[in-house]
Amino acid sequence: MSQVRDHALTKTLAASSTHALPSYLNADDLGPWGIYLQQVDRVTPYLGHLARWVETLKRPKRMLVVDVPIELDNGTIAHFEGYRVQHNTSRGPGKGGVRFHQDVTLSEVMALSAWMSIKNAAVNVPYGGAKGGIRVDPKTLSRGELERLTRRYTSEIGIIIGPSKDIPAPDVNTNDQVMAWMMDTYSMNVGTTATGVVTGKPIDLGGSLGRREATGRGVFTVGVEAAKHIGLDISKARVAVQGFGNVGGIAGKLFSEAGSRIVAVQDHTGTIYQESGLNVPALLAHIKEHGTLITFPGVEVIANDAFWDVSCDILIPAALEQQITATNAGRIQAKLVIEGANGPTTPQADDILQERGVLVVPDVVANAGGVTVSYFEWVQDFSSFFWSEDEINARLVRIMQDAFDSVWAVSQQHKVTLRTATFIVACQRILHARELRGLYP
Ligand code: NAD
Repeated sequence: MSQVRDHALTKTLAASSTHALPSYLNADDLGPWGIYLQQVDRVTPYLGHLARWVETLKRPKRMLVVDVPIELDNGTIAHFEGYRVQHNTSRGPGKGGVRFHQDVTLSEVMALSAWMSIKNAAVNVPYGGAKGGIRVDPKTLSRGELERLTRRYTSEIGIIIGPSKDIPAPDVNTNDQVMAWMMDTYSMNVGTTATGVVTGKPIDLGGSLGRREATGRGVFTVGVEAAKHIGLDISKARVAVQGFGNVGGIAGKLFSEAGSRIVAVQDHTGTIYQESGLNVPALLAHIKEHGTLITFPGVEVIANDAFWDVSCDILIPAALEQQITATNAGRIQAKLVIEGANGPTTPQADDILQERGVLVVPDVVANAGGVTVSYFEWVQDFSSFFWSEDEINARLVRIMQDAFDSVWAVSQQHKVTLRTATFIVACQRILHARELRGLYP
């Protein structure tokens, strides 16, 4: 049933966005780009005179598809498809991560690049939006093969990236080592060390203190703000977290330090429950040592599907896309959902949660802490002057609080969800910049 509805939705989108449909996308299945187009359509009535420019948001500025050939360790030559999409650069250079995953598609990279435009404008950092990826399962590659893949990809997209053009960062299956190889490759090609070409680098190569924890800290910060508005006492809250990696693990730790009880956690190996609240530092240490949470002593292991029925006040999806769907949204007990992951809630689920009065803090503001500290890293690299971790955290918290306050005010003014409000704030900023710059020539 939901598949039929989804199909109908995609058809409607294709029809309503005919002008925005690039010729190489399948009108029957626009994928994540279709969801993004629907989100833009929802905010267009609120854009006033700026709606004149809205088509800008429905067309990525520049898309590069590259062939990435490498020699495998066994002597054969393998070819991978790589992408870099610069969705919009009206407010500054492109900015967004690079994903290595076997399911990466152009539609996904387009949508992720557009969500980066929205996110960067929502927290008001001076960037446009971009995203990149390679269609590859990196777990099948040796370290040497991964390095060759990264370097060849960086060389291929080198014609459009640069410290003042487009600045990649880590995303799914890429990390600080991959960023170090990207920085080195770009630097070798241009003949000078260019630390500012990527963020999320190792600290010894111009990385920033606080970057690793930044996204989880941002999730916690906006969660505290949202809880205040709905009269939820964080120190007594019951919290369930899906995904206990970089984002979910840090957010869970900060909520637990603030007195919340983390009652349920799910990762790719299973789901655990503890009524009295989990010992988060011990759980993180256990996951680090054993690679799984289900063997953590003294907890109840529950069915993965039962995670959605857990009695809790706050739910933090911090794993994958499209986890909260029309199938489970009606079962969620939480009063507050804070999206740590990118795109964890489908549009249908969004509507169900809204009807049920559940407040959703959308990804485009909730997980913007990472790109905010990436911005700090880039600024520090330019000035070659590095800040203390306390300074970074204080600036991060201020930016996240300001972003949440702006979005909250707009949601109250127009009586819309926080997601629509975030899109209104962000689209207005982007299109205002577009209008001020005008069209060239
Ligand atoms: P990570 O790899 O550190 O952690 C991912 C977690 O999700 C792990 O605990 C993993 O076990 C769990 N997981 C994977 N598959 C699962 C499944 N099928 N069911 C339940 N759990 C599953 O990744 P991360 O950096 O924490 O990123 C998580 C999400 O946050 C992604 O959507 C990412 O795009 C988004 N995000 C991350 C950052 C960042 O700075 N790391 C910034 C913005 C957005």
